[in-house]
Amino acid sequence: MTDTHAQRPEPVADPDIHTRVCIDSMLGPYDAKLDPTHRWNGWLSPYFTLDTVRQLAARTQEMAEEDGFDCVDTIHVIDGDTDSDGEPRAVVVHIRWQYLGEGAESAASIIQPNDEGLYGVGGWEWTWHFASWTCACGTDAYWHVETCENCGAARDGQLQEQAPAGQPEPAADPKEIVRLRERVHHAAARVRADPDSTNPEWRAALADLTESLDQLAAIDPVYRLALQQADATDD
Ligand SMILES: [Zn+2]
Repeated sequence: MTDTHAQRPEPVADPDIHTRVCIDSMLGPYDAKLDPTHRWNGWLSPYFTLDTVRQLAARTQEMAEEDGFDCVDTIHVIDGDTDSDGEPRAVVVHIRWQYLGEGAESAASIIQPNDEGLYGVGGWEWTWHFASWTCACGTDAYWHVETCENCGAARDGQLQEQAPAGQPEPAADPKEIVRLRERVHHAAARVRADPDSTNPEWRAALADLTESLDQLAAIDPVYRLALQQADATDD
């Protein structure tokens, strides 16, 4: 994901739009703040909250495990207790494994937060680009373009409408969600344990799993988000 190890400019003082960025399907999309005019060969230099950096860091480490450390930079968040005001301290480190032979200076750097406490990860170095959303009319737009340029529909309204259609959304009862999650868990365990499509009891467990997943999708925002993310990853 690293191209050339180019000279980096001064950090951006006031990145000014909220959007989502990704690197193809490898990394992201993540919420970010950035100056859209601040480009390196057209690529973006996004800034992230520490929580987002933690997600991103975990993903880079997964990628390095999968694809090899020779071709993947990794990000690490090292937590160091609290400062004298009781605020948690953390250091964000960027490791460029392929430059390890050239000395520590280019192989590792500490990413300092900017004035807003946001961390610029991979700016002027990685191929970050805007994440997009697809309107019901089929038009693609960058994430921060909140209204479809073709039909005028709003991004956020549509993403909520992508919940299973047909039934009005019931107010979620937390106890019902817990009950359904347990039902899913048990049915899935039974389905996995001894797959045998000739066994009526197994078929009943599969039907129960399907039905409880459908019900969960209708009322469990966490599960619904997971489904949306799975869909996004499939694209
Ligand atoms: Zn549209």
